[in-house]
Amino acid sequence: MQTFDFDLFVIGGGSGGVRAARMSAQRGARVGLAEFAAMGGTCVNVGCIPKKLYSYAAHYADSFEESHGFGWVGKAPVFDWDLLKANRAREISRLNGIYVQLLESAGVKIINGWARLLDAHTVEVDGQKFTAKNILVATGGTATVPDVPGREHVVTSDHMFDLSPFPRRLLVVGGGYIACEFASIFNGLGSQVTQVHRRDKLLTGFDDDVRRFVAAEMSKTGVQLKLGAEIAAIHKTGEGLQVELMGGGERIEVDTVLYATGRIPNASGVGLEAAGVAVNAAGAIQVDRHYQTSVPSIYALGDVTARIQLTPVALGEAMVVVDQLFGPAAGKKPRNMSYEFVPTAVFTHPNIGTVGYSEADAREKFGKVTVFRADFKALKHTLSGSTERTLMKLLVEDATDRVVGLHMVGPDAGEIVQGFAVAMKAGATKAIFDSTIGIHPTVAEEFVTMREPVSAST
Ligand code: FAD
Repeated sequence: MQTFDFDLFVIGGGSGGVRAARMSAQRGARVGLAEFAAMGGTCVNVGCIPKKLYSYAAHYADSFEESHGFGWVGKAPVFDWDLLKANRAREISRLNGIYVQLLESAGVKIINGWARLLDAHTVEVDGQKFTAKNILVATGGTATVPDVPGREHVVTSDHMFDLSPFPRRLLVVGGGYIACEFASIFNGLGSQVTQVHRRDKLLTGFDDDVRRFVAAEMSKTGVQLKLGAEIAAIHKTGEGLQVELMGGGERIEVDTVLYATGRIPNASGVGLEAAGVAVNAAGAIQVDRHYQTSVPSIYALGDVTARIQLTPVALGEAMVVVDQLFGPAAGKKPRNMSYEFVPTAVFTHPNIGTVGYSEADAREKFGKVTVFRADFKALKHTLSGSTERTLMKLLVEDATDRVVGLHMVGPDAGEIVQGFAVAMKAGATKAIFDSTIGIHPTVAEEFVTMREPVSAST
């Protein structure tokens, strides 16, 4: 029988790779993991975590302002960008260390360096060869910048956390969640932000009411939205950058241009061709429902497979792979991954929280759907002086009374929607929502007190 150095070799120490390596080792497997950068991947280093920390920072501006209505008098403190950067960097280093420690204490051998496949069972990391019975490719994705004149002057989300100096004037290109979040965050931190998006609405794929509502709220906070606009060129000037828009030649002077227009799978330079691993037209590794690629001994998950690109999804996929390769945990069944009712948040100001179908998708999938919607000023803002409004929306499938879509734009929407996601996963009906007692006075209680539909089923 052929012997291997490892039972499993993981390429990539990000959300999915670390989870798969650690859990496999805990099941007794001999596991190696190669990572060429800081441990933790996109989420820990340049994604979810630093972004959320900066989003917290940005909210203080509003909080100081709003506190006056509650009797707090005096000037707001000034913002120190370098201090925030230093504190973030310290926290991220601490997390990097925890990831290494978790892997090592589970018995995973960490190999620092760039890994590539040589064949179905062999990986090379900086000249060293390792064999493994199975290999998991969890190499994530990377931001791309289109071929626009002046692209050498722009930055991607990876650079936003350590910009120096602080961009007083920022132009964000893109309308996806990453673009919207950075627009909100830097606006909150004090930049003058312009966001340019080629479509007429932000956040393709989200519910249309949410898209309209969040654009209006972001505009109120001061983000200058230019929808249906495209960048013609970016020119370097003595004072910064001059961004030229297509048609009409409008020019906008800024300090920094962030392109957040898309991400591609990290599938090149990994030796996929050498091993015979198939990728689709978009360059993502093709996998079956067990995350097995076209080569039976090679698995892939997370952003490199370009399904739903979220950390908890990569973690869920990792657990399916672990169960598939090494069996489920004692007394448990092997896990499956469902991509239906995946909740998510967008950390715009105000936040978006969403689970289930948009109204358009629900109508397409379920036919007759009843819509409940509330748009109101939260109690807090009766004194805060803020004009911020909150949107809450429920979509109910007529045939079953099941709640199939739940959307919110408002403070802490992600925190609120997470709990409702459990109920929806369990198949909660509108009747169950109606019979649930609200928590008063909260914003969240609105989800269990919406009685009058705004549209009867169509
Ligand atoms: P990654 O976490 O990207 O890990 C891949 C790892 O592989 C990297 O560490 C990389 O260095 C390494 N690697 C690549 N190639 C090689 C190689 N050949 N050899 C060795 N190592 C290699 N998701 C959320 O759920 N919530 C959020 O709020 C959120 N915010 C985000 C904000 C931003 C700005 C971005 C960019 C992403 C955000 N995401 C968020 C998405 C989330 O970060 C990803 O979905 C998640 O990190 C994917 O995990 P992964 O394991 O597939 O890849």
